[in-house]
Amino acid sequence: MKYHEGLYIDGDWRPSAGTGTIDVVNPADEQVIGTVPAGTEQDVDAAVRAARAALPGWAATAPAERAARLTALRDQLAARSEEIARTITAELGCTLAFSRRVQAAVPVAVTGSYAELAAGHSFEERIGNSTVYHEPVGVVGAITPWNYPLHQITNKVAPALAAGCTVVLKPAEDTPLTARLFAECVAAAGVPAGVFNLVTGLGTVAGQALAEHLDVDLVSFTGSTAVGRKIGAIAGGGVKRVALELGGKSANVILPGADLAQAVRINLADVIRNSGQSCNTLSRMLVHADQYEEAVELAAQEAARYLPGDPEDEKSGLGPVVNARQRDRVLGYIRSGLDEGARLVAGGPDAPEGLPTGYYVRPTVFADVTPDMTIAQEEIFGPVVTLLRYESEEEALEIANGTDYGLAGAVWAADEGTAVAFARRLHTGQVDINGGRFNILAPFGGHKQSGVGRELGVHGLAEYLQTKSLQF
Ligand code: NAD
Repeated sequence: MKYHEGLYIDGDWRPSAGTGTIDVVNPADEQVIGTVPAGTEQDVDAAVRAARAALPGWAATAPAERAARLTALRDQLAARSEEIARTITAELGCTLAFSRRVQAAVPVAVTGSYAELAAGHSFEERIGNSTVYHEPVGVVGAITPWNYPLHQITNKVAPALAAGCTVVLKPAEDTPLTARLFAECVAAAGVPAGVFNLVTGLGTVAGQALAEHLDVDLVSFTGSTAVGRKIGAIAGGGVKRVALELGGKSANVILPGADLAQAVRINLADVIRNSGQSCNTLSRMLVHADQYEEAVELAAQEAARYLPGDPEDEKSGLGPVVNARQRDRVLGYIRSGLDEGARLVAGGPDAPEGLPTGYYVRPTVFADVTPDMTIAQEEIFGPVVTLLRYESEEEALEIANGTDYGLAGAVWAADEGTAVAFARRLHTGQVDINGGRFNILAPFGGHKQSGVGRELGVHGLAEYLQTKSLQF
């Protein structure tokens, strides 16, 4: 049996109990590039049983051995990174350069970081007359989205394995081929049978069955707030642990005196690099009234530098969005911006010239956006930047905090102290100060409707551990 005909359960590729399949489409040329099984409730049950059976052995494995398997997994991911990058570009549509530099490379670093954490972490502590053990939570159901197909998987699977948990993964419908490569790497890394299992399938079938399964102890979900809410309710009903990484509407606040050109340039690069499909993307740019028109002009100039095109072509500034539904959703938001009176200064709802095939969206910049507009409140998940004007720092703060979300953000100021003081008042899980870089060891996760729980680093590991205290 060819690997893609099967599901990876209990250390083996096996056929689905059902006959349904999911076609994987390349968003750049709209061609089917692969087919995977649409796993059923029975398949999920088989995978959870395998994970449950493997749990006692894996939980009892010395942390140093778990670290060794994670090191081997990191090496596998590194050895196959070109294949992974090409697969991600083929099923997601982001440029190959971005796939190589971020989509394939960051998961290698994250997996390596958990190898180190597993080896060095103290899984017990002494508190007064108690010894407190940090034990694995148990069987993890991981449900992941398509926008960072491998990163979202390693963000969950690596800490879960480091903690001694076993896992059933249900990846997004659009990007299962990357998940399949990951399963091959897990197998090649010598991770024991049943410790990691992969069931491809529909969210409403396999995803839901996994979230509802009574033998799953923790559900870790990344995706839309709408589905996250459902998963949270299901987990609450089953009294199981839940981690939710949901949407965002992050603000890039440019305070007077900041390096405006750099702040605008980095903002545009941030939004456009994955065609706007990042949960932490800086989709709102807040600029003081005195510098507003200058920022609008700079943003329009920057947007023009990114030409949509074949993501495998080095000259392309951005690839298509993931599928036709996502393109239509983004175009719907662009139209709503026009209808609600925002000023279009770059891009727009028309298809880019010379690209009749593929789900392309032009890099789009809106000025004169007010906080009440739909495009200022809802997650667009496309290459669209909105510029909002403020008169005072207090107003900037009110606008920045004035959405249901609170995942990320950025502050630019003339000096770090001013930026930090402002950042401390933002209701959000992360803030980049004057262009601060992403840190794979810093806790990542949301305030408010952006989610529950944290990923990455030692905080991400803690999600997969529960305590037991012995008193002496
Ligand atoms: P989604 O939430 O529908 O899908 C995410 C994952 O959940 C997929 O694996 C999907 O199969 C699964 N799923 C769907 N319905 C389910 C259910 N009822 N029970 C269990 N699992 C289920 O997200 P999407 O449709 O891929 O994207 C829609 C929007 O979500 C995007 O436009 C974007 O706004 C947002 N999104 C956010 C992130 C993020 O990182 N925060 C990632 C992807 C998408």
